[in-house]
Amino acid sequence: MSASSSSVLACLDGVRGWQGELYRDLHAHPELSHQEHRTARLVAGRLTESRCEVHEGVGGTGVVGVLHNGDGPVVLLRADMDALPVLEATGLTYASVEKATVDGAEVPVMHACGHDVHVACLLGAVDVLARTQSHWAGTVVAVFQPAEEVADGARGMIEDGLVDLVGPVDVALCQHVLPFPAGHVATRPGPTLAAADSMRITVHGRGAHGSMPHAAVDPVVLAAMIVVRLQTVVAREVRPGDPAVVTVGSIQAGTKSNVIPDSATILLNIRTYGEATRTAILDAVERIVNAECAASGSPAPAEFELFDRFPVTDNDRQVTERVAAAFADHFGDRAGELPLQTASEDFSDIPTAFGVPYTYWGIGGIDPALYGKAEAAGRIAQDLPVNHSAEFGPVIEPTLETGTTALVVAALAWLTPVGGADQAGSKA
Ligand code: ZN
Ligand code: ZN
Repeated sequence: MSASSSSVLACLDGVRGWQGELYRDLHAHPELSHQEHRTARLVAGRLTESRCEVHEGVGGTGVVGVLHNGDGPVVLLRADMDALPVLEATGLTYASVEKATVDGAEVPVMHACGHDVHVACLLGAVDVLARTQSHWAGTVVAVFQPAEEVADGARGMIEDGLVDLVGPVDVALCQHVLPFPAGHVATRPGPTLAAADSMRITVHGRGAHGSMPHAAVDPVVLAAMIVVRLQTVVAREVRPGDPAVVTVGSIQAGTKSNVIPDSATILLNIRTYGEATRTAILDAVERIVNAECAASGSPAPAEFELFDRFPVTDNDRQVTERVAAAFADHFGDRAGELPLQTASEDFSDIPTAFGVPYTYWGIGGIDPALYGKAEAAGRIAQDLPVNHSAEFGPVIEPTLETGTTALVVAALAWLTPVGGADQAGSKA
């Protein structure tokens, strides 16, 4: 561990006093995407106590805390704040019983993805850095983002002027709690999380009586041909070894056995790990749909609508190596490699808007004893709850300490170390 990070981390004790309690409060009071009002208020209050410059209401409920500490690198750290419409089944004493209204219907709300961990850890890291400003120089920008789960929270903050508000930054860093042992951290260079695109395709036919197919252009048969032909995109057009998925999740047409309908709607989900593959697949889908429409004599052009789009998370190699080296130095054999993830994230929209490199790492959230038991039984996938599960409840410690430390250690890999007398804790 470097001298500067050990002096800074000596202040972790000052954070423990409020962090666990704040985490339990966040966990018990989750809020859905774009509804993170209470969370944002708590975040802004805590940032103020850490003497940050605080900007609220960025892209709706987004909050930005800036810790200016002289000339030096500018490090952006991001945490997402939103929860999911899941009925919590962790049995924890601080489990959520919150409800929210979505499209007029009441739904349960739960921090089933662990974004409460991210918020508590980033607030902790900012507080540690605020208490130890004599040991480093530069600027820390803490971004608390709404609506990650619906893929548009990062974009919303950018469209609301995040880049102008913050000014130039040198690097962007982010972490996610994942189902591996608490106390461990894991990094990965290159593609790490999939890009995801959902697509609604509407194809047109000509409706007619079910007994008179010669008077119709049947969109049911057209849609069926499209679904079959789409299976060739990954099998025949993507390089073997380049992971990609094209799933038809929904196909809808017609109301009755003896009526040929006049249109059909197909919903696709597409996962890729590189912009070239993503573009190639989207182009192939459009080409196949248009060609099948022509083959059927479809009377009107097909309509394509993309929604719920997540960018690929492609970790910069140099940035990742720098973080991985700092983690190896601090965490020793508790720092490992993160496997390729099939999930998706909108974090990378932020560094892309700033035009800076980034990395995204994982921290463990599972009780190490439970993990060890499941591993010994060869039942990790079956016995341990994963993100978005109603039973996903990260163990508070060492998860919070590890996530807080990881953010501080990674930020210090950029911030300028300042020598001199050890004043750690002097501002606590
Ligand atoms: Zn999630
Ligand atoms: Zn998440």
